Amino acid sequence: MTALTVPAAFAGSPATGLVCKECHNTVPLAPVHVCDRCFAPLEVAYDEERLRLVTRASIEAGPQTIWRYAGLLPAGQDLATRVDLGAGMTRLREAPHLAAALGMRKLYVKDDSGNPTHSFKDRVVSVALSAARAFGYTTVSCASTGNLANSVAAHAAHAGLTSIVFIPSDLEQGKVVQTAVYGQTLVAVEGTYDDVNRLCSEIAENEDWAFVNVNVRPYYAEGSKTLGYEVAEQLGWRLPEQVVIPMASGSLLTKVDKAFGELTRLGLVEPSDYRVFGAQATGCSPIATAFENGWDVVKPVKPSTIAKSLAIGNPADGPYALDTVRRTGGAMGHVSDEEVVEGIRLLASTEGVFAETAGGVTVATLRQLLRAGLVDPDAETVLYNTGDGLKTIDAVAGVVGPTATIAPSYAAFAKTGLAD
Ligand SMILES: *Cc1c(COP(=O)(O)O)cnc(C)c1O
Ligand SMILES: [Zn+2]
Repeated sequence: MTALTVPAAFAGSPATGLVCKECHNTVPLAPVHVCDRCFAPLEVAYDEERLRLVTRASIEAGPQTIWRYAGLLPAGQDLATRVDLGAGMTRLREAPHLAAALGMRKLYVKDDSGNPTHSFKDRVVSVALSAARAFGYTTVSCASTGNLANSVAAHAAHAGLTSIVFIPSDLEQGKVVQTAVYGQTLVAVEGTYDDVNRLCSEIAENEDWAFVNVNVRPYYAEGSKTLGYEVAEQLGWRLPEQVVIPMASGSLLTKVDKAFGELTRLGLVEPSDYRVFGAQATGCSPIATAFENGWDVVKPVKPSTIAKSLAIGNPADGPYALDTVRRTGGAMGHVSDEEVVEGIRLLASTEGVFAETAGGVTVATLRQLLRAGLVDPDAETVLYNTGDGLKTIDAVAGVVGPTATIAPSYAAFAKTGLAD
């Protein structure tokens, strides 16, 4: 392979260039996301020797954020370009009560609601904006189903970057407010996420902005690997036997698998078999439907579900998510909106964790896959909760509420039958 020139701001990075996922054409590190030969997605390529400099000890000596894995990421090694709001090292919670309710032996919840803007998107945005800065951008942008908008606006505000965020106009109030509060530009588009995304691709051709999920998407996507690294580290440097992951574009699922593969290849964990499971809401289940039918192609759908953070009808990494799940011997499932609400309530009532709709999707899908005999109830399992329930209050507002509403008198309380 010929040596490629690496931009100066990437000097400390183990990344050497971008490689096409299909034809393996390699190009220099640049703000591009598709192969100019075959139009397939580009992925970050690394210098294996530089990755090998990373040890358990060097990671453990790092900060309590995703940046402890800087030696395995494409950008942010240089503190002058790193964008850091403190994402990562979220809790890996043992979930014995949920395990008992589901008939499982050992279950953990990797709880990414604890991130700075309360979703897993803080991981990908930190890396994307660090890359954007390294390329010299001062304006960042994105199309978002909500969580990405929150995270981009917050990280841009923190880093002194300008952000222009595009969302579908029917998003949950919580996500609109949580984006607008950072005082950056927010544009609501009358259309679906896929319409917004198409619009952003057009804008990206005319504006010199870093679009976190368009031109800097290869860097963005690598941030998801940290959800794999952390689980392995938090388990005492070993891989779990099963992981259950929500899917929007399918990227997160493929990157957790990539992280497990890297840790194994680099000798940071012992080789062990693991199975990857994918979860979607039935109202937007193009990837899980392809799995169900044994298709290699993912047919786009028009989303209609309360799980808006997962509502990508035309998922860019769908085929790769299918490959990952099939290769590891996992499975996919999809659940109705009623089951999503049940999933949210089950996790909350058994473990005290209030998940957003994506978490409800994942819990309900796990239950479904267990009933179908596709998940092994005796194998150690990690369920990824990727967002905070306070962001999607509407999903449960209609089905939970006060046990009783009473006048402030003992007589009124006694009448409720709640007194012992
Ligand atoms: C974005 C998102 C995901 C997964 O996204 P991918 O596009 O599949 O990487 C999962 N959960 C939540 C809450 C999200 O916001
Ligand atoms: Zn190609």
